[in-house]
Amino acid sequence: MQKGAILVLSGPSGAGKSTIINAASSQIGEYYFSISTTTRAPRIGEAHGVDYFFVSKENFEEDIKAGNFLEYAQVHGNYYGTSLKPVREALEEGKLVIFDIDVQGHRLVRAKMDDITTSAFITPPTLEALEERLRARCTDDEAVIVNRIENAKSEIEALGEYDFTIINDTVEKAAREFVIVAKAARLKQSKEDEAKFINTWLG
Ligand code: 5GP
Repeated sequence: MQKGAILVLSGPSGAGKSTIINAASSQIGEYYFSISTTTRAPRIGEAHGVDYFFVSKENFEEDIKAGNFLEYAQVHGNYYGTSLKPVREALEEGKLVIFDIDVQGHRLVRAKMDDITTSAFITPPTLEALEERLRARCTDDEAVIVNRIENAKSEIEALGEYDFTIINDTVEKAAREFVIVAKAARLKQSKEDEAKFINTWLG
């Protein structure tokens, strides 16, 4: 039986990842978008359980100790992590599981679940375009923006670790490319499925 697959998306804050996913969502079949847990404060308009599970540092560290995370990392001075249980369940149900996680998270997911993982790095066309987007968003103060830009400069260096790069110059084009990547991710076979197929094929 075909089990689920993982699609990891990374890219700087302000790259437009959620806009692209929303624009493509009706064309990529049934998927589960992994809602991360974070210790950062909610931005205006963000809701608990929708954008993130917002928790205290103490709660996050308890979850680490309990082994509840598939992966976690510190980004911009806050903890961010992916809970293992809902991901496992969605994979069992054969869904495409989409993660919006940073480059450290991508490496950890690769280390644990490489054979069912496909990844794409999503970025605005230039650093300048990213700066404009972060400022236009008006949700972060200047120090936060500067921190995110510095982080983006180092994250872009990891682009070669990803299967695909999606350059978000227009949402329509990026969403079209994203649909192709999501379809490719579903076609990826685990080593176990490949072995089963070969056995059946040989008869
Ligand atoms: P933001 O604060 O803008 O929502 O996210 C900041 C960064 O944290 C983004 O690069 C995002 O991909 C990353 N991030 C969000 N959730 C997770 C997670 O669960 N694990 C990891 N490793 N990174 C995450």
